[in-house]
Amino acid sequence: MIKTTNKNIKKILLKKELTKEDIIILLSSDIEGRNILYRKSAEIKDKYVGRTSYYRGLIEFSNICSKNCYYCGIRRDNKFPVRYELDDETILSAVKFAFENKFASIVLQSGERNNNLFTKRIENLLKKINKLTNSQLGITLSSGEQSEEIFRSWRDAGAHRYLLRIETSNKDLYYKIHSNDDKHNFEKRLKALENLQKIGYQTGTGIMIGLPFQDYEHLSDDLLFFKNFDIDMVGMGPYIEHAETPLFRFNKMLMPAKERFNLTLKMIAILRIMMKDINIAAATALQAIDPIGREKAIKIGANIIMPNITPSENRKNYRLYENKPCIDESAEDCTNCLEARINIAGDNIGYGKRGDSKHYFNRIAL
Ligand code: SAH
Ligand code: SF4
Repeated sequence: MIKTTNKNIKKILLKKELTKEDIIILLSSDIEGRNILYRKSAEIKDKYVGRTSYYRGLIEFSNICSKNCYYCGIRRDNKFPVRYELDDETILSAVKFAFENKFASIVLQSGERNNNLFTKRIENLLKKINKLTNSQLGITLSSGEQSEEIFRSWRDAGAHRYLLRIETSNKDLYYKIHSNDDKHNFEKRLKALENLQKIGYQTGTGIMIGLPFQDYEHLSDDLLFFKNFDIDMVGMGPYIEHAETPLFRFNKMLMPAKERFNLTLKMIAILRIMMKDINIAAATALQAIDPIGREKAIKIGANIIMPNITPSENRKNYRLYENKPCIDESAEDCTNCLEARINIAGDNIGYGKRGDSKHYFNRIAL
């Protein structure tokens, strides 16, 4: 085993490409080493994407899901959440809020459903959103795995970006957190991600950090997976246990929440160094552990923040994990407190600017 010293860390940070071993050393860094890492990642953020963070108004439009991921509080078999699906009018009023407040982008997120009624509904909704906003909003979808045909129809209806976390790039670990069946299939998820990129979406993926059975090798491979895949956007956050899920029985194996948090920050910093021009989200789950968690991520490399603009009465039922923040606040409350906090983290907000992934344009120009 290579010893982690600050001299090592400095040496690694001068390299053009990081190896798996380099990443493991960076992930194991102590407080002093970690500060060296953060200084470097902040410098790179400044140089390549600038000190601007972009908003994506997050609309969690339905918690109905046909899947049963072992970690997720809205999995199909969980009897506790009251299932909901927002109607078009409610979604459009949240869209209007985002548009009028110059958010310039939204994320529509939901559980996964593959039936025709659902997929057609999204297609029509996208058309309505574009009509309402003169096609000026950046629209990200995050509604799970769909066929290539459906992905194309949504893109044609005006979605620009898609978020589909691979959750872990390690197949064995994937099947520790999902059942191994037709609905939860690693190769299918990977294929869906490849299709999104092929169809021309700004393609986003991500993982959870601090899962039971996960180690530094897995995390290091995840970062190399993003790089090899040539991904445009990444959203990764700490795994947060939920008592009403099957994965909860491994709770004793988990590292303390604060450590999962610190590891997530390190992952973001290393990724910023490895992929200088991509968009990296400061995941909401960071805030569930540390009240200024997202701002800390912004400071050291993230440049995307997703204020929740789902109507507050529905938020309590979209609990993917415990302690989900801002459950009781209105969209206005959320955004007012956010700007000041991001300023303190050193960034301006890119009001009125879509903040598309620079990497996407660099990639397609090649
Ligand atoms: N159904 C879609 C999108 C909604 S779930 C999909 O699965 O792709 C969005 C993300 O929430 C998931 O990708 C997962 O990474 C995250 N998530 C779910 N449960 C979580 C938990 N317990 N802790 C942290 N993140 C969680
Ligand atoms: Fe459904 Fe997504 Fe939760 Fe899996 S992670 S159960 S697909 S909402």
